[in-house]
Amino acid sequence: MQEIIDAIESHADRATCEALALPDTYRAALIRREDADMFAGVESKDKDPRRSIKIDHVPVPELAHGEALIAVMASSINYTTVWTSIFEPVSTFGFLQRYAKSHPDGARHDLPYHVIGSDAAGVVLRVGPGVNAFAPGDRVVAHCLSVELESPAGHNDTMLDPEQRIWGYETNFGGLAELAIVKSNQLMAKPEHLTWEEAAVPGLVNSTAYRQLVSKNGADMKQGDVVLIWGASGGLGSYATQYALNGGAVPICVVSSPEKAKIARSMGAELIIDRSAEGYAFWKDPQTQDPKEWQRLGKKIRELTGGEDPDIVFEHPGRETFGASVYVARRGGTIVTCASTSGFMHEYDNRYLWMNLKKIIGTHFANYREAFEANRLVAKGVIHPTLSQVFTLDQAGDAAYEVHRNLHQGKVGVLALAPRPGLGVTNPLLRSHVLEKINRFTAK
Ligand code: NAP
Repeated sequence: MQEIIDAIESHADRATCEALALPDTYRAALIRREDADMFAGVESKDKDPRRSIKIDHVPVPELAHGEALIAVMASSINYTTVWTSIFEPVSTFGFLQRYAKSHPDGARHDLPYHVIGSDAAGVVLRVGPGVNAFAPGDRVVAHCLSVELESPAGHNDTMLDPEQRIWGYETNFGGLAELAIVKSNQLMAKPEHLTWEEAAVPGLVNSTAYRQLVSKNGADMKQGDVVLIWGASGGLGSYATQYALNGGAVPICVVSSPEKAKIARSMGAELIIDRSAEGYAFWKDPQTQDPKEWQRLGKKIRELTGGEDPDIVFEHPGRETFGASVYVARRGGTIVTCASTSGFMHEYDNRYLWMNLKKIIGTHFANYREAFEANRLVAKGVIHPTLSQVFTLDQAGDAAYEVHRNLHQGKVGVLALAPRPGLGVTNPLLRSHVLEKINRFTAK
């Protein structure tokens, strides 16, 4: 691998990259099929990714039509990494088996191990037949939408393709590794002003937040909208907060500690609710909600906004908060959801939905165009990566543990082939302009 790293660090051209010898195996963070029952009987919060995520050498897979092999300089931890590593809500080996049955190229993915990770920044090493838009030597980031696009159903919005999968979660050969296989239509140019680890972290959450909040396929946010953002300093929320601020909306950022409130403030948010300090208890017991607590949240929001209710509620905690989210949205407002971290079986009082003409919109990752727009805004320096910690590949289990236990802020990065943090910037001038802008802002 050293030859590959040296070539990347010396900005080797296409011919040099094409001529690089590929190793037979590469190091990867993976889970094993034989471990799928290792947490039987253990509570979710106590399932420890440090036990299930292993670092091992695996063979370099064959490239199929439309695919690229990339040298991964850095990757990141997403909640999907946590779900995979604790085998919840289902073991991801079922996804790999289904992929193998559905498509000839899918057969490679059904293995006794699953190389995980749904983000990557790196360099193209090889391309398969049918790839014209990218070539060896290109510095890229990968978004995580893998689609076959053989059905008409996916041609207005590729997220609607029946063979839509999340790379590194529903497919093998993911980004938490020295090498990764992606479809070439997952690739986008790496933002030039970012280091490898900064470039690696936005992909999944930034694209998801873009579709969920900004896109017409999501909440279609407009100037002046009041947006309640749960987990505003976390993966999705820290990008949603930036989109709300950039788009002239008014974010109300919900966080759970003064440190996390500080992060929301440093992004420019002014209206912040510390849910721990407020002590909201939306459930009296596991079966019974407490509408008085929804009302208490609604009152707090009105205090902050001068009497306005949220036009949009940016939902993802799920069962714990969903009843409150439906209640506090304004008449005619939108609750847009992409997840259920605290539980999938939501419960809400439907009277507040229908009598007040509210909408619930389901959303999931992003199509290529949405991911491209989200990455374009990062490349222009108007959306910033929210990277708080960087781990090595060997520490992938520790990194996933941080996210699982909600000990992290923003995003957690993982170095793969990058020998140390801080490398990979090819436009230092843009970097200094962007950093100056951020510093000027945070000094206010
Ligand atoms: P994250 O970095 O862990 O951030 C989530 C934040 O939500 C936490 O930091 C926490 O912030 C808040 N939170 C957690 N549990 C909560 C609860 N019970 N009540 C209120 N707030 C709670 O995770 P993420 O990357 O943003 O992902 C969040 C969820 O979205 C995960 O379930 C993930 O799988 C899902 N997701 C789905 C998609 C998709 O395409 N469908 C894409 C990305 C993520 P505070 O403690 O500060 O309140």
